[in-house]
Amino acid sequence: MQTNLAEPYRNTPEGEAAEQILRSCVHCGFCLATCPTYQILGNELDSPRGRIYLMKQVLEGAEPTVKTQQHLDRCLTCRNCETTCPSGVEYGKLLDIGRHIVEKKVGRSTRETLTRAVLKNGLASPALFNTALKLGQGVRALMPGSLQTRIPVAEDAGTWPAPHHPRKMLVLQGCVQPGLKPNINAATARVLDRVGISLIAAPEAGCCGALAHHLNDEAEGRTAMRRNIDAWIPHLDAGVEAIVMTASGCGVMVKEYAWLLRDDPHYADKAERVSAATWDISEILVTETDALVALASPAPAVKKRLAYHPPCTLQHGQKLTGDVESLLTHAGFELAPVAEKHLCCGSAGTYSILQPEISNALKIRKLEHLQAGAPEIIVTANIGCLTHLQSGSAVPVKHWIEILDEALVRPSDKPS
Ligand code: SF4
Ligand code: SF4
Repeated sequence: MQTNLAEPYRNTPEGEAAEQILRSCVHCGFCLATCPTYQILGNELDSPRGRIYLMKQVLEGAEPTVKTQQHLDRCLTCRNCETTCPSGVEYGKLLDIGRHIVEKKVGRSTRETLTRAVLKNGLASPALFNTALKLGQGVRALMPGSLQTRIPVAEDAGTWPAPHHPRKMLVLQGCVQPGLKPNINAATARVLDRVGISLIAAPEAGCCGALAHHLNDEAEGRTAMRRNIDAWIPHLDAGVEAIVMTASGCGVMVKEYAWLLRDDPHYADKAERVSAATWDISEILVTETDALVALASPAPAVKKRLAYHPPCTLQHGQKLTGDVESLLTHAGFELAPVAEKHLCCGSAGTYSILQPEISNALKIRKLEHLQAGAPEIIVTANIGCLTHLQSGSAVPVKHWIEILDEALVRPSDKPS
């Protein structure tokens, strides 16, 4: 696609990056077939190709409008279009640039600004979020059913083994996950402990920065990234093998620190090191499959029928497919077939709050497919997808690592 950037963007880092991406799009339209918002809304301007056109016009000098902003806002950033695109168009990076420019030019209403500030500050702060969650859990029984489904009951994390192995890995605890589902990180620590790896956390680390970044607050997003880098580098220096991600939404973000901080003279090298050391838990465990198979419980009662939802941030963002399915089937689980695995469930970070109609339509469609094979449990790999799907499902929804943890022989079960 030919481009002619307007003066303010010529010879700027974001202009040059956008131009390169725009030029790689051949306008074929293959991406329309797998774009969830195009599938639901049927409007070319709510498709990848339409949004690319809108961003190109803005970069070439057209004044963006509220309508332009709405079409960009409606994108789930699922990056399904990147998986489909035969020309390797890096749509996600272009959208970051386009949204940022449009945000600066169009602005937001007071109501939108306030909603976004509450989301950004409330969700990214574990102290604020956990206080609100505990209050909600305390009065959950008095709430109408529609609200109850949005507040999970308090759960026990179980034990987190003391770090006693020479092999050590760090975990990003996440901002909402420890409050909503504390068992996910604890189950990860137990599974890794059984294959000879101790999981530790750096208390100074916090939100990965995705919340602020996707709400177009680049400065706050970068502050979170730098804080995490400062928290993790000393551990990498001390010999920690990897930084483990148990939420694929955080994983895709941390893996992109290298790109997002590429122009930061103080952090570019450190960001590259952190991104290279970052692994999804499935990537780590797939290299330990033999040890896990040896630990798998022989009891058939634990081998439930599962339906797996691969989050977009895992399959399209991190391009990781098949590892979770492989681990679960090696551990003896039966996986029900699921149609339209490539499509987003509608969670997409804060999207379910900011775009509730589209989000809900996608959730209903996704749950129909997940439940078609009559699973006993639905499993996924991201806290956002998990809570979003659970809010519409009578079938329990869990992180797959919790199921694997339950299916492994516990150290106390071994004959002494
Ligand atoms: S599939 Fe790729 S090259 Fe074709 S229109 Fe979509 S983004 Fe452009
Ligand atoms: S990221 Fe997802 S919603 Fe956005 S244009 Fe691509 S396929 Fe469509």
